[in-house]
Amino acid sequence: MLEAVISLGGIGFLAAVALGAAAKKFAVEVDPREAAILEVLSGANCGACGYPGCGAYAKAVVSGEAAPTLCPAGGAATVRDISRIMGVEAVAADPETAVVLCQGDNESARVKYHYLGLEDCQAAQKIAEGPKTCPGGCLGLGSCVRACPFEAIEITARGLAVIDRERCTGCRKCVSVCPRSVIRMTPRLATVHVLCNSQDKGVLVRKYCQIGCISCQICKKTAPEAYVIENNLARVEYAHHEDAALAVTKCPTKCILDFSQAYPPGSQCVPSSPQPTAGDL
Ligand code: SF4
Repeated sequence: MLEAVISLGGIGFLAAVALGAAAKKFAVEVDPREAAILEVLSGANCGACGYPGCGAYAKAVVSGEAAPTLCPAGGAATVRDISRIMGVEAVAADPETAVVLCQGDNESARVKYHYLGLEDCQAAQKIAEGPKTCPGGCLGLGSCVRACPFEAIEITARGLAVIDRERCTGCRKCVSVCPRSVIRMTPRLATVHVLCNSQDKGVLVRKYCQIGCISCQICKKTAPEAYVIENNLARVEYAHHEDAALAVTKCPTKCILDFSQAYPPGSQCVPSSPQPTAGDL
């Protein structure tokens, strides 16, 4: 019995020594900057940087493969922290916010048929190109809500997706899942947007949406630099967005909204001032 215990103990001891030696020999050196970067990242693992998660991004920055500016979730502060860790100058791009360019909810926009299928915009879009008559309007079934890692999107009681500017980090996850391409990235500083995504002529838009752009040009005449009209649709020229608010009350269909003053009807979001830009690094 004693012999068995001694021999088993010996085998265990030898195995431990061998494992220890192997661990030393094959140990992978981890650059301490990798852990330091991981510490300053949000940990959201949203993939917006183009890497599978925060760990992979930290590794890529340290190896020189990725720039310190690719994490939209962390914003300017994270760019500054990563740049400090890497010993490089912090140069961040101006932050962006996703906006749903539509206000055509269940009360203001017509539907072609009542959809009773899966609660998913991509599934709905496959049936006769979706239940909304407007070819570009929000379907309101929340594919974007489920894709957002930051709980920044709500579907209002009237069936419209609305993005909370305070919570949106600009990760673009919602943009890639929306089958109607109605979510756009916009400069965070710009609070005024034309909330319409239809390129149909005004006379047709009026038939299916009370709050769509009819390309009447009044916004452009009110603030010529701040608006462009293309394909029957007005949009804010974001490089000159400062004057865009002048047209909010002039638009006859009320499809221009200043998010610093109001969100679409039925939204729980609270308006607030523009947020900091890269210049605030
Ligand atoms: S914005 Fe796009 S993904 Fe989100 S609810 Fe509307 S149609 Fe669906």
